[in-house]
Amino acid sequence: MKLLRTCEEMTRWADEQRAHGRSIGLVPTMGYLHDGHASLMDRLRPECDLLVVSIYVNPLQFAPHEDLDTYPRNTEGDLKVCEAHGVDAVFLPDALYPDDFTTVVHVKQVSDGLCGNRGPQYFQGIATAVARLFGVTRATCSCFGEKDYQQLMVIRRMVRDLAFDVRIVPAPLVRDPDGLAMSSRNAYLSAEDRQRGLTLSAALRTIQQGYEQGITDVQELLASARDVIDADFLDYLEIRDADNLQPLSVLDRPARALVAVMVGKTRLIDNMAVGPALAGAA
Ligand code: AMP
Repeated sequence: MKLLRTCEEMTRWADEQRAHGRSIGLVPTMGYLHDGHASLMDRLRPECDLLVVSIYVNPLQFAPHEDLDTYPRNTEGDLKVCEAHGVDAVFLPDALYPDDFTTVVHVKQVSDGLCGNRGPQYFQGIATAVARLFGVTRATCSCFGEKDYQQLMVIRRMVRDLAFDVRIVPAPLVRDPDGLAMSSRNAYLSAEDRQRGLTLSAALRTIQQGYEQGITDVQELLASARDVIDADFLDYLEIRDADNLQPLSVLDRPARALVAVMVGKTRLIDNMAVGPALAGAA
C-alpha cells in the first residue's frame, strides 16, 4: 500500500496510473476510521482498478468554536484498516490547498438548513475540499456514506452542475449493533451519553412506524419522534424529500427523516428512509 503525503506526489502517481488506463476510486475521509468508512472502501473496491483513501481533517468546514484541534486522530490504526480493505494508496496530505488558494465552491439550495445551519463554511468547506480532492487524485469514481445524507446530496449536485467526470457511489449508513450510527465522534461519548445517543435511531424508527400505521402528517410524525429524543440540545429533526431535500408537510413520497443533536459536547447526526420506497429500491 502506497503512502502519498503531498498533492504533487498524489497527482504524479495518479497521472501515471491513468496513463496506463487504470481507473481510480476515491474514499474521502477525515480519519479515525471505523467500519462505516470500511464499508465505503468495500463498496468502491470492485468499481475501480485502484482504490485511494484520503485522510484529511479539513479546516475549511469547521467553525471557530468547533472541534478542529481535538478531532480524534489515529493514523497508525487508520493505515491498518486501509490495508485490511485492499486499499492501494492512502493520501495523507499535511496541506490540501495551495498558499494562495482563493476559490470557494458554494452549492445552493441543498446546502440550506439542516447541517447547513452550522454556518456557510460547513458545506462550502466540504464542497471545496471534495472538488480539490477530485482534481488532485484524478478520481474516476468516489464513494460517500448516507450517514451524511445532505453532504451526499451536495456532492451529487456539485458533480452534476460542474460536469465533473466522477461517478458518485452512495453507501448505506452503518450502525453499531445497538443501533447507534457509527461516527468518529462516538469516541467522545461516555457510557451514559451513548445511551442517550441511542434515542436518535429510536426516534427515526418511531417515524417509520407512524407512517406504517397510516400517519402521513409530517408535524404529527415529528411530534411523536421528538418525545423519544433525550439530548441536551435538539438542533433539527425534519422530514425532507429524499431527492431534493425540500421540506414536506405530507409524507407522500420517498423521504428522509434527519436528526442532529448535542449530547454533552458531542454532536450526533442520524437519518433514515421514511415514507413510500424509492422507485427501484428493494
Ligand atoms: P468523515 O470521516 O466523517 O468525514 O466521513 C467520511 C465518509 O465516511 C463520508 O462519506 C461519510 O458519510 C462516511 N461515513 C462516516 N460514518 C459512516 C457510517 N456510519 N456509515 C456509512 N458511511 C459513513
